[in-house]
Amino acid sequence: MHIAVVGCGHGEIDKIYDVIAKIEEKQGIKVSAVLCCGDFQSVRNMTDLRCMACPIKYQHMHDFHRYYSGEKQAPVLTLFIGGNHEASNFLQELPYGGWVAPNIFYMGYVGVVKVGPLRVAGISGIYKGHDYLKGRHEYPPYNQGTIRSVYHYRNLDIFRLKQIKQHVDIVLSHDWPKGIHQHGDFNRLLRQKPFFRDEIERNELGSRPLSEILEAIQPSYWFSAHMHVKFAAHISHSPPDNRPTDDEIEHSTSAEVAADDVVTNSSKSEAQASRATKFLALDKILPRRQFLQIIEFPTSSNDEQVTFEYDAEWLAILKSTNNLVSVKDKPSFMPGPGYMPRSDFSATTEEMDEVLTLFEKDLSIKNNFQVTAPVFKPGEHPRQAKPCENPITKDFCYKLGVVDPLSMLVSEEMMNLSISALDEDYPEDVESQMDITMNCTSRTDDSLNYNPDEISLDVDDDQGESPSELQQSEDNARLSRSKLVLPPPKNGGDSSSLTTGEAKEQEGSRIFKRSTLVLPPPKHSENDEDNIEVRSDTKDAEAESTSLFFLDTGGEPEVKRRRDWMS
Ligand code: 5GP
Ligand code: MN
Repeated sequence: MHIAVVGCGHGEIDKIYDVIAKIEEKQGIKVSAVLCCGDFQSVRNMTDLRCMACPIKYQHMHDFHRYYSGEKQAPVLTLFIGGNHEASNFLQELPYGGWVAPNIFYMGYVGVVKVGPLRVAGISGIYKGHDYLKGRHEYPPYNQGTIRSVYHYRNLDIFRLKQIKQHVDIVLSHDWPKGIHQHGDFNRLLRQKPFFRDEIERNELGSRPLSEILEAIQPSYWFSAHMHVKFAAHISHSPPDNRPTDDEIEHSTSAEVAADDVVTNSSKSEAQASRATKFLALDKILPRRQFLQIIEFPTSSNDEQVTFEYDAEWLAILKSTNNLVSVKDKPSFMPGPGYMPRSDFSATTEEMDEVLTLFEKDLSIKNNFQVTAPVFKPGEHPRQAKPCENPITKDFCYKLGVVDPLSMLVSEEMMNLSISALDEDYPEDVESQMDITMNCTSRTDDSLNYNPDEISLDVDDDQGESPSELQQSEDNARLSRSKLVLPPPKNGGDSSSLTTGEAKEQEGSRIFKRSTLVLPPPKHSENDEDNIEVRSDTKDAEAESTSLFFLDTGGEPEVKRRRDWMS
């Protein structure tokens, strides 16, 4: 089975498929799936484009909209995680992942899926200490702060990943785990990226939460992007306390066997005692840049049409941690050791059985893509972006019994408005809406124990923020000055404009009128000023090159077998 791994996509979807087609022809192979490590840019139209953190002069529609509209078809199953240049309004509609176009699947804020026999985990976004503990409080239209913070991953995402106990074959992240440079040829890395030197010397290159995940789940492979350079590393792990279990070794996937193959001359017991992760970061899609790598995984199954499924352990973790979802613009802490009633959310057999029952024992991911936003028309003007409920998320939340953070946020914002706007008795329908809201917000996040393992808000690892995020468009500022929208009037109100995300309780009632949620304008970030940073020349040049056309294919990557891609 051949998997194509791609670095930063930057909207150059056609190029990915062109290169894969050439490799397939030249090598006589068939690629079963593409894994893109972020900055994919699933931009459907001008409105989405304005929701992407990137100066207007670098905002181009690129290729994705043709796959969205159906004009083009992705020739191979394509999975991607979010980076720091995305149509954030669109990705926010799919917090648990879903199809953004036929055959193109976004993995959500964080997710685990099965591609054939491979268990693939992905985490979207990049790390920023100052947003790490906050809830998912952002919604479109974004202001200068939220257009950037929307793609910063949160402690809940990391906490959920840490609950995984079964072996993971592949992890995808946009930024790199911290300290990864120590496990590869970092002199070469420094020659290619000399401006990393200071951060490397201070051991500040990369994301601390990601290095914790790497240590906790010890996947066979980890693929990243964002730094715009190819870099390979080999990490030997010390054996964790609670794995690998004999049972796990017994039932290892073929990819694990592949990983073990590399640990040459080691007996099986040694291989059991210590695991290794092969890390590979790839470049962005530009001529003569190493942005794509084919990796061969030995499998017994028919590679032409791989199966694509949800993962029972992951679904169980999503469900059991549902009460930890926060949409507040303030810190919340994950349950620390000893927290009652529960601090360990690793999935039990009963919980996995329960999700299997909820999914009627069919975890296959169906193609339930629908066009939900206007397709791009040349010459169109951007509209004001609004929070929208995506039918894929609605179905998923309903089935699993989890909240949609965006819908929950709308409920909470409406609730706040209800309280501040009404100084008389609440009209009947607002009262009933409040009940709904209270149900969905009956969480315990504020009362959770302080966890000493958490990164404190004072810690700010803000290295490597993209230059292209640093400027904000006048358009965005203008769009965010929308009119305040009050709760629906008595009787004329439509309770569908409020949603709890507790989909089961809402059965039979239409949650959204036309899947668009009306919210008040976003609050301006107090530290908007802080978000404006000076662009460095190097980074300027990088950003400039994003808009280059592919004048030649000299950068076409070669196929490497899994044994020699470390070289
Ligand atoms: P993007 O494509 O996301 O706008 O920007 C990526 C750029 O930022 C690349 O040029 C990459 O080398 C740089 N970059 C990403 N992360 C870091 C980091 O942690 N430190 C430094 N010095 N540069 C970074
Ligand atoms: Mn990036």
